Amino acid sequence: MSTLLNPKRVVSDLKELRALTGDENGTQRVAFTPVWVKTRAWLKQKLEALPVEMHTDAAGNFWSTLRGDSEKCLLIGGHMDSVPNGGWLDGCLNMMAGVEVLRRINAQYNGKPPVTVRLVDWADEEGARFGKSLFGSSACSGNLDMNEARGLKDKDGVTLPDALKNVGIDFERVKDSGKELKNAAAYLELHIEQGPVLLDLDLPLGAVLGTFGVERHAITFHGQAAHSGSTPMNRRKDAFLAAGKMSAEIYRIAERSKGGVCTIGSCTTKPGIVTSVVEECRITLDQRHLDASALAQMLKEAKAASEQFAKEGNVKVSWERIWQIAPRPFNEELIAFCDESIRETCGKSHRLPSGPLHDAAEVARAGVPTVMMFVQSLHGISHNKIEDTMEEHLELCVTAFDKLAEKTIGWIQK
Ligand SMILES: [Zn+2]
Repeated sequence: MSTLLNPKRVVSDLKELRALTGDENGTQRVAFTPVWVKTRAWLKQKLEALPVEMHTDAAGNFWSTLRGDSEKCLLIGGHMDSVPNGGWLDGCLNMMAGVEVLRRINAQYNGKPPVTVRLVDWADEEGARFGKSLFGSSACSGNLDMNEARGLKDKDGVTLPDALKNVGIDFERVKDSGKELKNAAAYLELHIEQGPVLLDLDLPLGAVLGTFGVERHAITFHGQAAHSGSTPMNRRKDAFLAAGKMSAEIYRIAERSKGGVCTIGSCTTKPGIVTSVVEECRITLDQRHLDASALAQMLKEAKAASEQFAKEGNVKVSWERIWQIAPRPFNEELIAFCDESIRETCGKSHRLPSGPLHDAAEVARAGVPTVMMFVQSLHGISHNKIEDTMEEHLELCVTAFDKLAEKTIGWIQK
C-alpha cells in the first residue's frame, strides 16, 4: 500500500494550487467567484487521470465517484473555497489528500475497490460572501434554512439566489442535493486544526471527537443612571458592576465544565459617559461544549450567576438567545480507527473536540457515521495568510488519513 501512496505529491499539488489562486495577501478562492471556478477546473483536471465519474449536484457540491463492488459508499470531503486573504491549507488540504487516497485506492484495486469511494468538494463552506457557513453541506443534509438563505445579500446587495444563478445553480432546488447521501456508509474529513492544541502538545495529528455545541446569548443588566459625584456608593444601581462580576465567573463555569469554553465578546453601556453610573449594560456570552448536558449546565450556571449578581447590586437582568447549535459527536468506532491510524503513523495520538464547525458536522447530523482527523497548525492560526503546517506533518497526515480510509473500507464491508 505504502508504495502506491505518494504524500509528497499532495504537498506539490497544494503548492501548485497556492501559486494559481493566491496573491501576496493570501488565498483568494471565495466561493462562486471566478477564482473559485478556476480552482474547480484545476481540481477536475487532476481527477481526470482517474477512472472516476464527476458531476456537480443541485447545491453546487462537486462529486467524484470511483465505483466499487458494493454500492455502499465511503465519502471523503473537503472544500476548495476559502475566506478572502485566507490560508493555503484550510479546506483544500482535505481535498488534495482525498485525491491522493483515491489514486492509491484506484491503483491498489485496479479501478474497482470493494466499496464505492466518493470525493466531495462542498460548495461555500466558509460563507465568506453571504455570512452563512456550510452552505453546500447543509443543503445536502437537509438542514439549510431556506427562508433565511433566500434573503441573504452580499455587501453589494446581490442575493444568494442570484449569485447561485450566475454559476448555474437553482436556489429553490438546492436540497435535491440530499440524494447524494444515499448509500453513504461513512464520511471522513481531514483538516488543519485551526487552533493551538496539537501545537502545544507537540503532536502532529489528532482524532476529532466531534464539533462543539454552542449557546450564544445577550445578557442585559438594567440599573439606574445617576450622577457620579452626588450618588453615594451604597445608593447605586450599577448595571456594570453586575456585568463585571460575570467576567470572572465564566472562567469558573468553564473550569467546572471540564472541557467547555466561555467568552464574553462584547460589552456596551448606557448612557456610556464618564460622569454617570451605568444604567444599562449589555454583554454577549458564547458558551461551547462537546457534551450537550454539560453545555446545558454551563448555561444554567451562567443564568444563576447573573441573577445572583443582579440581586447583590439591586439591578435587574434579562436574557435573549442569539444563536444555538447542538454538539455533533462523531462515530465511536471511526474515532477509534482514526486514533489507531495516527498511532501507526507517528506513534502518539490525541483526542480533541473541534471548536469551529465543519462540513463533517452537517454530514454527521444527516446520520452518516463520521470522523475528522486534525493536523497540527503552526502558530495555531487559520483564516490568515500565515496559516501553515510543517511539510513533514503534511506528509504524515496524508499517510494516516489513507490508513483511516482503508480501515473504514474494511468496516463498511462488514
Ligand atoms: Zn475549512
